[in-house]
Amino acid sequence: MIVLGVESSCDETGVGVVEFDPQPDGSPGSLTLLADEVASSVDEHARFGGVVPEVASRAHLEAIVPTMQRARETAGIDRPDAVAVTIGPGLAGALLVGVAAAKAYALAWDVPLYAVNHLGGHVAVDTLEHGPMPECVALLVSGGHTHLLHVTDLGHPIVELGTTVDDAAGEAFDKVARLLGLGFPGGPALDRAAADGDPTAIAFPRGMTGPRDARYDFSFSGLKTAVARHVEKARREGSTVSVPDIAASFQEAVADVLTLKAIRACTDLGVETLVLGGGATANSRIRSLAGERAAAAGVTLRIPRPRLCTDNGAMIASLGAHVIAAGASPSPLTVASDPGMSVQISQI
Ligand code: ATP
Ligand code: MG
Ligand code: FE
Repeated sequence: MIVLGVESSCDETGVGVVEFDPQPDGSPGSLTLLADEVASSVDEHARFGGVVPEVASRAHLEAIVPTMQRARETAGIDRPDAVAVTIGPGLAGALLVGVAAAKAYALAWDVPLYAVNHLGGHVAVDTLEHGPMPECVALLVSGGHTHLLHVTDLGHPIVELGTTVDDAAGEAFDKVARLLGLGFPGGPALDRAAADGDPTAIAFPRGMTGPRDARYDFSFSGLKTAVARHVEKARREGSTVSVPDIAASFQEAVADVLTLKAIRACTDLGVETLVLGGGATANSRIRSLAGERAAAAGVTLRIPRPRLCTDNGAMIASLGAHVIAAGASPSPLTVASDPGMSVQISQI
């Protein structure tokens, strides 16, 4: 069976095509990637220092048909057996474009439509790379999201263990990078700058790690403010500001808290697999520290290749495969996008 996935929740227009063979146990068996076409408007947002929703919506509108065309050509298909689409969470105007397109194509091709949750897609995409997934804890870190999830079965609702109470982890990277004059998106630039710095140079705060704090929630705005204060103070006192040291110390603080809580969740729940997803998992320190701590805790770490960690259509097709194999009913063509969709809902 071939499922085509459409993604347009933020600044990537993605169309992916996945082939699978539904198993009697309700799983999709092994997934084969036939196409993964992505058009990103990230460059158009650079001069604004962040994603501008209206600009993203317009870019989706221009990119959706050519991206669809390329995906079908790459996959060598005229039409799929089903269409899956991100229905939320995400930017309202951006979601509308993908949802409207997916409905139109599903109607024209006379195939069922499956409206799925973007966050579940970030987890499901790992099965494309590493095969069937056992019960796991998933840590999703991107420009818009920071979630710690408990996933028993991808075809069914996911339980959210914790999330950020303020900024997303990727957003904190972008804001701190901006403060340090490193440009947008700042995550990759900050990662590079940190390579030459000392991660122990400045003891930045680890948000929400106190004994009274929620076990699985995150907070990054205090850290961001601490970096700003550090820079202001150094400038006021006329001392030198070492961008590499600040970058490395900030990055260490983020990686420390994320991996501490992710491994804590695995230990608390007795879960032996940790999956990372989202664009910020490209971060070298998040990856290395997650690897070290997972090994020490006897947890198997799964991280899809970077291309699959950022937003794409293949992740939506992958989740579609899990949902279809689990026997879900198709969504009505009247289904509406849901910008504030909860992760608890895997499919409508
Ligand atoms: P969404 O939040 O809807 O998943 P997004 O576009 O905000 O979408 P992604 O495209 O998945 O997120 O990832 C982009 C984010 O990842 C940006 O915030 C970027 O700075 C961050 N990022 C990318 N590479 C790195 C890196 N090496 N280190 C830290 N952050 C990174
Ligand atoms: Mg993006
Ligand atoms: Fe995403």
